[in-house]
Amino acid sequence: MRRLAALLALMLAPPAFANEPVELTFIANEGVILRQGEYAVAIDTPSWNSYEGTYAIPSEAMVNALTTGTYPAGRLDAMLFTHIHGDHFDASGAAGIIEAQQPPPLILGGDQVIDAFVEAGGDETRAMRPQVVDGTCETAGQPTCAYTLGLVMPSRDAFPRIDARPLFHRAGISHWTYRVEMGGVSVLHLGDTQPQLADFSIWDGVDFDVILYPYWFAQMEEGAAFLAAHPNARTIAFHIPANASSQRVIAMLNGADYLHTEGETRILSAAQ
Ligand SMILES: [Zn+2]
Repeated sequence: MRRLAALLALMLAPPAFANEPVELTFIANEGVILRQGEYAVAIDTPSWNSYEGTYAIPSEAMVNALTTGTYPAGRLDAMLFTHIHGDHFDASGAAGIIEAQQPPPLILGGDQVIDAFVEAGGDETRAMRPQVVDGTCETAGQPTCAYTLGLVMPSRDAFPRIDARPLFHRAGISHWTYRVEMGGVSVLHLGDTQPQLADFSIWDGVDFDVILYPYWFAQMEEGAAFLAAHPNARTIAFHIPANASSQRVIAMLNGADYLHTEGETRILSAAQ
């Protein structure tokens, strides 16, 4: 009986890392890694195409760290990709990470992303394709797009919750935005959402503590309105041209926080 009580107490005790802060590590362009305790989710990294030097791609050292799951990238549980453009997604890089890391991370993306990943030799059994069915948000083979990964991962309570919903980027491009909730922090990654043409109602009623947005977003009325509609969210800009000087970036962003340097970090929640 005492043993059972001790076992129960052990099971009910919060995991040792529950009070660790959520940390964001910036990789390049819109590529970030969100980590809390033993869990980590990457979004829009690795990427490979700088579009003739316009946007930064990960350094060779960072690609190696991503592939092997070593510092400063670290082991990953999931890689999320907003869309197929090469400044956000590297099919063979993603395939290599899934081949190299143990256990292999999951990959989430629209059909264009996952098809390219499989074509590059990626392990399709690690892939999930979010999709919208009848106007509601679903992931293929799963009842709901929210909390999808909690259903398949060993630690349901602590594993980050991942919610994928589409927002318009460009005609013909399947584009997904992601909300990752870990350590009690809800983070929205807007990818390359085109605010003038996006239907933001798909995220109605959802709270965000942090919104990561492409820098042009805040310069457009609809984008600024979306950010203004979430006054309590901390907003951070990215997708800033590789060669923009700090002064130019700061002027362009009117003092808003931004990510521009590979390896820079942010603590998204205070340690308890
Ligand atoms: Zn882009």
